[in-house]
Amino acid sequence: ADVAALVASRTLDVPDFPKPGILFKDLMPLFSDGMVFKETIDAIAAHHGPDSFDVVVGVEARGFVIAAALAYATGVGVVPIRKAGKLPRKTHSESYALEYGEATLEVQEDAFVAGQRVLVVDDVLATGGTARATLDLVEKAGGTVAGFTVLLELAFLEGRRRLAGRTVDALLTV
Ligand code: IMP
Repeated sequence: ADVAALVASRTLDVPDFPKPGILFKDLMPLFSDGMVFKETIDAIAAHHGPDSFDVVVGVEARGFVIAAALAYATGVGVVPIRKAGKLPRKTHSESYALEYGEATLEVQEDAFVAGQRVLVVDDVLATGGTARATLDLVEKAGGTVAGFTVLLELAFLEGRRRLAGRTVDALLTV
């Protein structure tokens, strides 16, 4: 089946979550359907092709689900990018603005071998703040960004503008 249509068919619109006025896209139905989840992961792997990345990065927390499955399917390792204060040793950190306040993400300082090709995955690209911080962290830690793939891109939030010069792949753009 067409993977964009599959993602669309397993995305629920949740009004007023987590705040009034926000229309949240819930992709849990995609994760919980075994055949759809497998097709989704296989589509990402096929898009990038064999031997085009050395490790997969996922962003806490839904990105971990995608990253772990993709890493296992392609025989590479997985590195987590986490919210501040969760990783036990020396980290690099990046802060970025949210609508109200600020968020900080961290990666273990020794997460990558220099030049390692890193495929970054997440569930949703919205304003691009999370992705921007994540890609910067990968580079700070010595990795080379081989790609950035999301299941769903919310184009009206213009996340790609914050990622100028980077390749962004979305299985579905709405
Ligand atoms: P951004 O930083 O504004 O691009 O938001 C992207 C991050 O927030 C990703 O890690 C997503 O998991 C999460 N996110 C933002 N909006 C949604 C949504 O509508 N559904 C699910 N996750 C979302």
